[in-house]
Amino acid sequence: MKVPWKRVHSWKCLACGSCCKVYKPRLTFYEYLRLPKQFVEERRGRYYIRKINGRCPFQYGNLCAIQEKKPLSCKLFPFSIYERGEDDALFVYKDEEYYVYVDTFCKNLKLGKPSKEFINAIIEAIKIYRGEKTTPELITSRRALGTFFS
Ligand code: SF4
Ligand code: SF4
Repeated sequence: MKVPWKRVHSWKCLACGSCCKVYKPRLTFYEYLRLPKQFVEERRGRYYIRKINGRCPFQYGNLCAIQEKKPLSCKLFPFSIYERGEDDALFVYKDEEYYVYVDTFCKNLKLGKPSKEFINAIIEAIKIYRGEKTTPELITSRRALGTFFS
């Protein structure tokens, strides 16, 4: 379930890997072209990482092996950013309006009044969404940042 960011107190990724096992990440067309064909699929004009044996083929242990090519939707999880939404989801950054929702799947997420750290995480997510930043520092566990394979 996705809730507007104003209803979330805090969230911290501990690199448990559960979201990678459950979700089928959506890809941009460019991301689709960059990944090996046997690991991606197209359905009704949308692009995804293909689940193989029920999991993402790029997950090794709990961690992601494609840090350099990690899809935007994976970098942003549990955040989703839209151009339209509810008032509670509105976040203004550099005079531009974004509607930010948070997936409550992650058990390390707490509902309540947003903390300062959580607001900083949203700002980082928007910077990544806008292409101002490529490597997450706040919204991905430090444990998950190591690259095993190039
Ligand atoms: S976002 Fe949550 S579910 Fe996903 S790896 Fe981090 S702690 Fe686990
Ligand atoms: S590409 Fe990486 S972050 Fe995305 S689902 Fe697969 S293992 Fe997880």
